Amino acid sequence: MAVAHDTNNAIAQLIQLFSRLPGIGERSAARLTYHVLGSSPEYAHALGTALEELHSRVKRCQRCRNYTESELCRYCGDPKRDSSQLCVVARPQETEAIERSGTFRGRYHVLHALLSPLDGIGPDALEIEPLLARVRDEQVREVVVATPLSVEGEATALFLAQELKASAVRVTRIASGLPHGGELEYTDQVTLTRALAGRREL
Ligand SMILES: [Zn+2]
Repeated sequence: MAVAHDTNNAIAQLIQLFSRLPGIGERSAARLTYHVLGSSPEYAHALGTALEELHSRVKRCQRCRNYTESELCRYCGDPKRDSSQLCVVARPQETEAIERSGTFRGRYHVLHALLSPLDGIGPDALEIEPLLARVRDEQVREVVVATPLSVEGEATALFLAQELKASAVRVTRIASGLPHGGELEYTDQVTLTRALAGRREL
């Protein structure tokens, strides 16, 4: 597909942009591009506007760093949530997975990354400072570390446990039983409920 490399061409340019999305190869990118072209101009316009506004409308919650369009996300803004329990996840979409399990009524903290020295991702890339501040300032009694059970997820969990050692808060880790390295997002409700219920001290 020689045309795909000529980015002065509108079709080729969109194919090239779509193919940078995860899981989208050049053939899928071409299929999406021709689909948009075959749809109404209104649809293409709405798609463009939604993409354009994404970064300006969505920001990080002032408290837990989850994605939100307000100052506080819906969990931090809900007075009925139990603020003595904080569940730490790597990515915003993982809060949704834990919500689906229906067993956690505390609040969240989103790190937005995992430690990965080989990729040059150190503690500075993680939202750890706001987490430490919350443990200090809010009446947190337990931090449940729900990072994935991968090398990076375990390294991050151990690092958090060390950072929180001085604060006397209880630090727990979700139990194994999750598929190894498995992404929380794709874990079924029963497994996730078990992993939360079987959490152990870190
Ligand atoms: Zn929040």
